[in-house]
Amino acid sequence: MPAKRYLVTPGPTPVPPEVVAAMSAPMLHHRGPEFQAIADRVRARLGDVLQTAGDVLLFASSGTGAMEAAVVNLCSPGDRVLVASAGRFGERWASIARSYGLDVVHLRYAWGEALIPGEIAARLEEAGGVHAVYVTHSETSTGVVHDVRAIAERVAGSGAFLVVDAVSSLGAVPLETDAWGLDVVVSGSQKALMTPPGLAFSSVSAAAKAASATAGLPRFSLDWGRAGSFGSTPAVSLVMGLDAALELLLGEGLEAAFDRHRRLGRACRAGAKAMGLELFSPDEDRSAVVTAIRVPAGIDGKAIVRSMREHSGVTAGGGQGELAGQIVRIGHIGHISVSDVTAALAALELALAAAGADVERGVAVRAALAAHSDPVRA
Ligand code: PMP
Repeated sequence: MPAKRYLVTPGPTPVPPEVVAAMSAPMLHHRGPEFQAIADRVRARLGDVLQTAGDVLLFASSGTGAMEAAVVNLCSPGDRVLVASAGRFGERWASIARSYGLDVVHLRYAWGEALIPGEIAARLEEAGGVHAVYVTHSETSTGVVHDVRAIAERVAGSGAFLVVDAVSSLGAVPLETDAWGLDVVVSGSQKALMTPPGLAFSSVSAAAKAASATAGLPRFSLDWGRAGSFGSTPAVSLVMGLDAALELLLGEGLEAAFDRHRRLGRACRAGAKAMGLELFSPDEDRSAVVTAIRVPAGIDGKAIVRSMREHSGVTAGGGQGELAGQIVRIGHIGHISVSDVTAALAALELALAAAGADVERGVAVRAALAAHSDPVRA
C-alpha cells in the first residue's frame, strides 16, 4: 500500500489543516458563552452559504438525520408526499417517508436520469393533496445535479412544501434557498464543506417552521425545536471545525468556489474522455460534484477501485446499488485541487491498463490540465 494517500470520494472529503487544528482546540462547554458565540457564527455562516435569512438548525447526526428530521417535523401520519428520485439518495427520501407510514407518491426515474420539472408538476397535480415534495439536488450515486431551481418554479403555488437534499451540493454548485423558494434544505459536514462526518444541518423557512408546530409524526431528538435550542449536547468539536471550514469557503467567495468546482468537473470529464472512456454522469458544467465514469465492458469496476487504492493510494468511489461494478466515481468537492484530479485519473489509467483495458496511455492528465485552465462560463 503506497504511503501517500489521496481521498477522491464524494464524501467524506479531505479536511484542510485549518479545520483539523480548530477541531483539536480544548473542549468547550456547550452552554458557555464561548461555544454559543461559535455556534451563532456557524449558523450565520451556514445561512450565507445556504443563501437564506431563515433558521438554520444543527444536528449531531450524519446527513440522513437531517433528512429524517425534514420528514418527521413537517408531516402527520398518513400525509401524502411526492418523492422524485433518480438514484440511491433520492430513493432514500421514499424509504424514510414509508418508514413513517406516509402515503408516498414515487416518481421514480432510472438511475442516471435527470428529474424533469414538468413531470414533477404534472404528478403533483394528478396526485392531489400532496403535503410536501422531496427531491435531491446532487444525486451522488450518479453524478447528476438536478435543476432544483426549475423544480421549485413548478412546485411553487401548489401549496406543497419543497424539501431539498443538498448533502453533496452545498458549497460546490449554486443553490439559493430563499430566492428559489426552498422550504427546507438539508446538508452535511463531510462533503463540499470540508469537515469530518457527523454534523448535519437544515434550513427551515418560516412556513415550514409554522407547519412543524402542528405536524403529528412522533419525534424526539430530531425535533427541530430541540435542534434549534441545542436540547441535547451538540457535536462541539465538529461545530468548531465547521466554523473554520466556513471561514475558508466564504473567504474564497461562493462564486469563486463554484467556479473552482466547475473547472475540476471539466478537468475530470476531459481526462476520462481523452482516455477513451464513456462518461456515465452528464458531460455538462453543472455536474461539478462527482464524475461517474463507465468501466469498459468485461472489466470489473470493483477491482478497478481496489487496484487504484492498493497500487496508487487513491481512494475513489465505486458504483452503488444497481451500478455496483459498472462505474468509478471521482469526487471533486471541497478541499480538492486539480492535482488530486490528475492523480485520480492517472491511478484509473494504471488500474485499467493493468486489467487489460484498451486505454490510450498518458493523455488523460494532459487533457485534464488543459480543460482546467479553459475559461469557465457560468
Ligand atoms: N444525500 C446525498 C445526496 C448524499 O450524497 C449522502 C451521502 N453520500 C446522503 C444523502 C446521506 O448522507 P449521510 O451518509 O451523511 O447520512
